[in-house]
Amino acid sequence: DFIIIAVDGGAAAGKSSTSRALSSKFDLMHVDTGSFYRATTVKLLEAGVAPEAGPAMDAALAKLELGTYIDENSAYIVVNDWIPDESIRSEEVNANVSQYAAIPELRKFLFDYQRDQANIAREEGFAGLIMEGRDIGSVIFPDADLRLYLYADPAKRAARRAAEGLSDSIEKRDQMDSSRKTAPLSIPEGATLVDSSEMTLEEVVEHVSDLVSK
Ligand code: C5P
Repeated sequence: DFIIIAVDGGAAAGKSSTSRALSSKFDLMHVDTGSFYRATTVKLLEAGVAPEAGPAMDAALAKLELGTYIDENSAYIVVNDWIPDESIRSEEVNANVSQYAAIPELRKFLFDYQRDQANIAREEGFAGLIMEGRDIGSVIFPDADLRLYLYADPAKRAARRAAEGLSDSIEKRDQMDSSRKTAPLSIPEGATLVDSSEMTLEEVVEHVSDLVSK
């Protein structure tokens, strides 16, 4: 049976490494929805559109055509034939993405595309889908087989980001993501909280694997 796993949590909570490890272990298609918001942020910054609702935002979004390409166990977004690269993780994008992600029109624009990833995963013959983000278990796949909320304490998260060598005000992003009106970051009702503060990646993967097998 096709399974869907939703992984939510704050910035640098360990969602990506956990989701990637689980995707290879259970033959799931992995999708990082943060990259969708990052890629559209790059395009909207390029177009000079401010992070606010209105005709300019609608017009800019109407010009974006989304595609998907799959490499091994991950599906990646393609925007107007542009395959997003590491530039979506720049400090400029870190500093702006949460403002854009708060715009309901942008979230609406990405909604069907995100839901459609389950169909793509089925067509590609994966055993399931593992999707990470901020509102996957609450808004995109509230009906997922397993909904996880990954938590790590601030010191741990700051250390992870510092190890990546980039400045990223993760607490400020979390604060913005948690306080926005549309699809705020929060623990979805009925989700399983996993506190990885004192766990290695291997321990987290093992713990979650037990939940998947149940
Ligand atoms: O996961 P990552 O840190 O790359 O996400 C970047 C930003 O995209 C988040 O800070 C948040 O503003 C936005 N985002 C979102 N909803 C998602 C995934 C990401 O609002 N499902």
